[in-house]
Amino acid sequence: MFIFDAHIDTLSRLSGTNQRLDDNQGHVDLAKLRRSSQGAQFFAAFVSPEFYHGKALHSTMEMLDLFWKWMEDFSGDLAFAGIGKDILEIRKSDRMSCLLAIEGGEALEGKLANLRLFYRLGVRLLTLTWNHRNDLASGQSEGPGGGGLSLFGQEVVAEMNKLGMLVDVSHLNEQGFWDVLRLSESPVLASHSNARALCDHPRNLTDEQITALADKGGVIGVNFCTSFLAKERQATIDDVAEQIEYLAKVGGVDCVGIGSDFDGIDRTPLGLEHYGKTLELADILSKRGYNPRDVEKIMGGNLLRLCQTVLD
Ligand SMILES: [Zn+2]
Repeated sequence: MFIFDAHIDTLSRLSGTNQRLDDNQGHVDLAKLRRSSQGAQFFAAFVSPEFYHGKALHSTMEMLDLFWKWMEDFSGDLAFAGIGKDILEIRKSDRMSCLLAIEGGEALEGKLANLRLFYRLGVRLLTLTWNHRNDLASGQSEGPGGGGLSLFGQEVVAEMNKLGMLVDVSHLNEQGFWDVLRLSESPVLASHSNARALCDHPRNLTDEQITALADKGGVIGVNFCTSFLAKERQATIDDVAEQIEYLAKVGGVDCVGIGSDFDGIDRTPLGLEHYGKTLELADILSKRGYNPRDVEKIMGGNLLRLCQTVLD
């Protein structure tokens, strides 16, 4: 089964520490990635708020360096993929395709030149904001008062379309989301977000957002963070399956993907405690009556299609 996860935070978990990718700590490590060989993974360089003023670019560069170090140190298991075609090639060699993402437009420090340089360093996805307002747009915690995309944010979206990068609307407030949907010439991604109808959290998407994103050919990666799955009780793998089913019902099966957020979340759902368990979702979907073709689309095929459309 080809699994393609749109969002994990392992780079920021390990950057600046003495821990290694082949240590068995956190939700993701080399052994678990290895078990998912022939799969694909977006590694997000998450710009932590402590670096916002003056160190955003600096800390991002350190995470990109760590990514490229992994590609060298573990070249028998991992390989960089810059376009969809690379993923198809890497699968043949029984290795995992690794794609680079940045979570937080703060990393650009206000310059399109930095976006272009990031592209040259392998970055293929930018989550425009985290939860706060930045040079580009406002994150969800700013609410409607935060406003939509700034002029710079609009320029970034246009430049990303030109370069062939995935615009990620996860974390954006609603105005920002609708601005991106209106402005982007390419389909967009919500790399790690759920449906608000099942769990009322501002990080989750409304039915209108799901339909609009799906109509544009986009994909939504289902997030395993328990607070985006269930309120006031322990979430389980069945809540994730419910989210998948709901997104497929509202937006169609072609818009559904996986965006686990592993290594970026404190609590995980029962049954999805770490990266090695993602495959069990496929069994649950099969038991719920999904045909094998749709299960493959959800577990990775849809995200691969999106990458081929936007990156290639
Ligand atoms: Zn996030």
